[in-house]
Amino acid sequence: MSKVRLATVWLDGCSGCHMSFLDIDERILTLAEKVDLVYSPLVDAKVFPEHVDITLVEGAVSNEDDLHKIQLVRERTKTLISLGDCSITANVPGMRNPFRTKDVYDRAYRENVTFDPGVPTQVVPPLLPYSRPIHEFVPVDVFVPGCPPSADTIFYVLTELLEGRQPEVSTKTRFGA
Ligand code: SF4
Repeated sequence: MSKVRLATVWLDGCSGCHMSFLDIDERILTLAEKVDLVYSPLVDAKVFPEHVDITLVEGAVSNEDDLHKIQLVRERTKTLISLGDCSITANVPGMRNPFRTKDVYDRAYRENVTFDPGVPTQVVPPLLPYSRPIHEFVPVDVFVPGCPPSADTIFYVLTELLEGRQPEVSTKTRFGA
C-alpha cells in the first residue's frame, strides 16, 4: 500500500510549531510507517511537490514569498492544516499590523543598524501591507490552535486523518495554549 504524502511548511512563524511536531518523539516512527515526509524544513526538498495528501502550515502570510507559497501549497495539497495561532490569527507576526510598513522597515533596517543601513532590495521578499492568517488567502481544511499546539494534539490530528476521520480538536487545544 502506498504511503500518505505529508508535508510541513514554515511561513511567518517562530518555528515553535515545528518544534512541537518534533516533540512527538518516538511516535514519529509510528507515523513513518504510514507517511512519506515529502517536503519540510526538516528534509532537503527545495520545491513543494505535486500530489501532497496532508500539509501542516505554520505561520502567517506576511510577505510576497509567503503568499506565492501558500497558493502553490493549496493547489497541490488535498488536506491543508492551519497549524498554530500564527497561521489562524496572525498572532505574533500580526503585532506589526498597527504600524505602517515603511515604519516597520525603518525600525528593522535603519534605526537599529550601525553598518550600511538601508532596506534590502534583493533576497529579502517584500512585506505585504499586513500579516494575515492563511485562510484569508486560501481555503483551510483543519484548524489546530495553540502557541504552539502540543505534540499530543499534532499526533492526534495526524492519526485521525490517517484513519480517514475528521479530527475534533476543541477539547484538546486552545488559542494561546
Ligand atoms: S503559533 Fe506560537 S509557536 Fe507557532 S509559530 Fe506562532 S509564535 Fe511560534
